[in-house]
Amino acid sequence: MQIRIIKRLPAPIMDGFDVRRFQAVDGIYSVDLLMARYLVAAEYAVCLDRDVVAFPDRRCDGCGGPLTLPEKAAGFAIPSRAEYVCMRCRRAYRLDGDLSQLRLVEFD
Ligand SMILES: [Zn+2]
Repeated sequence: MQIRIIKRLPAPIMDGFDVRRFQAVDGIYSVDLLMARYLVAAEYAVCLDRDVVAFPDRRCDGCGGPLTLPEKAAGFAIPSRAEYVCMRCRRAYRLDGDLSQLRLVEFD
């Protein structure tokens, strides 16, 4: 799976995971699913393989609108951690730790 690191990792080993190769913030790395889950759950990375975990039938919890990718919602303010955006009300979502749930993202 591909991930993008979104903030600096504080230690070379975290919770038993060797993360020393993920030094570059904004760096893109190929990792196994276990590592992807850990880094996404800990909010150090976002998952780029959205096709693997896409939700074609998933609708916005707030208004029922269809979800799209943030880069397709250009011109709107979107939290940096967002992975999906509602096309209707612009609520932002990201994948939860086990990559099976969408969770609302607030601005930092
Ligand atoms: Zn919505």
